Amino acid sequence: MALKLLPPKREKTVSSAEQSQRANRTVLRRTLFLMILCGVVLFIPLIFTLYRLMIVEHDKYEELAINNQTRYTNLTASRGVIYDRNMNVLATSATVETVFIDPNEIATEMKDPANSNLLDHIARGLSEILDVETSFVYEQAADTAYRYKVIRRKISEELADQVREFINENEIKGVYLETDAQRYYPYSSLAAQVLGFVSRDNVGQEGLEAYYDSLLQGTAGKVVTSKGNYGSEMLYTYEKYYDASDGDSFVLTIDATVQSYLEKNLQNAIDKYGILNGAFGIVMDVNTGEIVAMSTMGSYDPNHYQDVYDEETAQTLEEQYQKALLLREGSPEYDAAMKAYNEAVAAARLKQWRNRCVSDGYEPGSTFKLVTMAAALDSGSVTVNDSFYCGGHEDFKGRDQTLSCWKSAGHGAETLEEALGNSCNIAFGHIGLRIGGEEFYDYINSFGFLEQTGVDLPGEAKGLFFSKADLSGASTASLISASFGQTFRITPIQLVRAVAAIVNGGYLLEPHVVSTVLDADGNVVQKNERTVLRQVISEETSATMREFMEFVVTDGTASNAYTPGYRVGGKTGTSEKIDEYDENGKPVDDKIVSFIGVAPINDPQYVVLVALDTPEYVAGTSYTPHNQYISGGLMGAPTVRDIFSDILPYLGVEPDYSSDDIRGVNITLPDVIGKTESEASELLSAKSITYRTVGNGSVVTDQLPSAGQEVPGHSEIVLYMGEEKVTEKTTVPNFIGYGVADVNWLANQYGLYIQAKGTDRTDVYVSAAYQDIPEGTEVDKWTTITVEFTTGGASD
Ligand SMILES: [Zn+2]
Repeated sequence: MALKLLPPKREKTVSSAEQSQRANRTVLRRTLFLMILCGVVLFIPLIFTLYRLMIVEHDKYEELAINNQTRYTNLTASRGVIYDRNMNVLATSATVETVFIDPNEIATEMKDPANSNLLDHIARGLSEILDVETSFVYEQAADTAYRYKVIRRKISEELADQVREFINENEIKGVYLETDAQRYYPYSSLAAQVLGFVSRDNVGQEGLEAYYDSLLQGTAGKVVTSKGNYGSEMLYTYEKYYDASDGDSFVLTIDATVQSYLEKNLQNAIDKYGILNGAFGIVMDVNTGEIVAMSTMGSYDPNHYQDVYDEETAQTLEEQYQKALLLREGSPEYDAAMKAYNEAVAAARLKQWRNRCVSDGYEPGSTFKLVTMAAALDSGSVTVNDSFYCGGHEDFKGRDQTLSCWKSAGHGAETLEEALGNSCNIAFGHIGLRIGGEEFYDYINSFGFLEQTGVDLPGEAKGLFFSKADLSGASTASLISASFGQTFRITPIQLVRAVAAIVNGGYLLEPHVVSTVLDADGNVVQKNERTVLRQVISEETSATMREFMEFVVTDGTASNAYTPGYRVGGKTGTSEKIDEYDENGKPVDDKIVSFIGVAPINDPQYVVLVALDTPEYVAGTSYTPHNQYISGGLMGAPTVRDIFSDILPYLGVEPDYSSDDIRGVNITLPDVIGKTESEASELLSAKSITYRTVGNGSVVTDQLPSAGQEVPGHSEIVLYMGEEKVTEKTTVPNFIGYGVADVNWLANQYGLYIQAKGTDRTDVYVSAAYQDIPEGTEVDKWTTITVEFTTGGASD
């Protein structure tokens, strides 16, 4: 365990460095690695154990149960299983056992002089087997009015067998075992905030485990009792035994593979851009409202939900704890310090358990311009032929402050489409005024921003928006700010659903994460279908919005969202933290950068929102310490692009690799060893790979790079015809800041392939902003380096 809520007494503690490392290992390695292996390796023993318990050794356990059942108070119902949409198990329960004693019975037995040392015997025996202090057993046994005191919960079968042996061999009275359940989350931290977890008592806490707790739980079995003359409710005699009825199982709309791709790319973005306060993302089917993936990072492992997984927080807490230990135990200072420590631990846990996608509002920034634009078009306040002028700054009637565009030099004359592509604040100020406060408010309401979405997850917030009066009053400040997404809050799930409506023909859906509920026998008891709440905009407006959104990617601030083989539309956003202040009371400069994308934009299927909370910045600037400009276009858009590249082929959305621009695709090289040159040539050209030969043999004896390696399309590889293959090393140069031609020239000099990602715009200067293998690394010659190109203009 990385960090437990420690009781206020001095105990051995693990060093904080070790704790942090362990926490780190648990979340990262388990998520990425176990994702792949879990279903196979980790889960087999569990299935095996369940199978053995339930089928092979059923009789043995039933007999044991009958032997012991005079003391059973409760028979745990088996909690339902949670599956992903492909029936991969995300949460399940296994039977374990709990050891308890009957203090009343022990005391009664000890009245017999022959049994006077019974308690000593029990304390010694249980202490040895269960690794508990003998003093603890004495304490539990002290109150002889009780008949049920737990010695240890949820022990392994092996330990339980040892306890049974101890009882039988020594004819011990007053020690019993009862069945209990242990919840397992085979995929570790995957989708943790969606799933939630169960408490030690198997009660759902957080996420789906909490939201559907009563259905998942089933009905506990029981022993009908008759009360004896002690008047104690714990006193009973056995009469009748009722089976527990198992809980319902849930099949989710979540796809574990898509979820892992989402989490992998969010983590990559956190590492790439130095994100300080985590990230969140949602993948939703725009036509059905099914949530295919939903993630809040940093996450936690629901198998060990009490641990604190954020390294820095865990270390701070450990320091706080150690400091408290220096105080005199029992003193008011000590008690206050321990109380503060416990509260800090509780807060850290709540933070990692929180599903930011539904429970927290945030300022959407320019991603909200999609809503403004859709409302403006649909209400007839603007037409596609309208044009605007941005001089960088403008005074608006009814607004005290001069409005500045993010591009201070101004965007000049713009069409309506270009205003969206440029994410121009000044044009949007005018668009907002043209709609007017009352009508704009009605559209916001209709798009569902003033209500919860009704998603089947607990703790849903509904954001915080202006009142109708505020939006339509004499002051235009609120209306203008609202038109470009500032100074109000919405939830991520609200935005995702509204954008789905914008592209799907105008239909506002009720999002959901549960697809089907199954009873214990596997019968379908509930099925969630597509639920349309209302049509917000016309099919025609929706079609125009799809074109506009594609323009944002092909010609606007989201050029880094271009995904090879796919048509993508979307909108960037860079927003401020509202109402957050530093220790001097000044508003913080922290930003949330985001991108909301839809693919394929000509036939929309999936919407993806990604938001990265607080890229590390140099105080007073908009740049990271690595000189990256902080914006949704430079950070959010490439993250969504990488998610689309991963999930769309997996989800069966066929790519169309027609463009032969700089942004190629990775080709996995076929094995051509042993083939003749003409056979090899045919295989390679089918994959758009060219080659040159070394040697004069009749068949290919080796190839460089080897089969299975990835190279960019149109690359040239080497085929050895009888000659020995030479593997040389090369050192990766710095590509950052160079243009496309220079990067390609450098790569050729050093003997490297370049997989170019990002924009291929030719009307503006495009340069390398990121390389996946750092300068100075020694690699095999003809290794592929991924380089991301960007324009300086992707600044919102
Ligand atoms: Zn502008």
